[in-house]
Amino acid sequence: MDLRELYQEMILDHGRRPRNFGLLEEATSRAEGHNPLCGDRLQLHVRVEDGVVRDVAFEGAGCAISVASASLMTQAVKGMPVDEAERLFRSFHSLVAGEPSGDGNGADLGKLEVFTGVRAFPTRVKCATLAWHTLHAALTDPDASVTTE
Ligand code: ZN
Repeated sequence: MDLRELYQEMILDHGRRPRNFGLLEEATSRAEGHNPLCGDRLQLHVRVEDGVVRDVAFEGAGCAISVASASLMTQAVKGMPVDEAERLFRSFHSLVAGEPSGDGNGADLGKLEVFTGVRAFPTRVKCATLAWHTLHAALTDPDASVTTE
């Protein structure tokens, strides 16, 4: 199995069995995300305490890429300081949009690198970044709503 197949496997796995899927009783903020181009919808619940993302969960429905991206995102940012989560958002966005990460201060993307292949499909970039835009909205406004359009 080459790296690309491994990446596809991971996206399919998270798309079918998303982690951190469901409600979060003690959320401090929530945000809705919608990607009308593909029909992806998600609701993100975040609990922030002392500047740290203590817990995060999501609900919703969409294509495998949007669900897998939300699933992997929740795993990546849980327990992370808010400013690091925002830095990861910017690095992830650069990765899938095929932009250079610029100043060399990009965050370590780890498993999120599985979305590298998305940059070849511009309409899929919105699927992959929906959860991240929604997270960004939740971290800056406790009751936000975003759309990729
Ligand atoms: Zn999609």
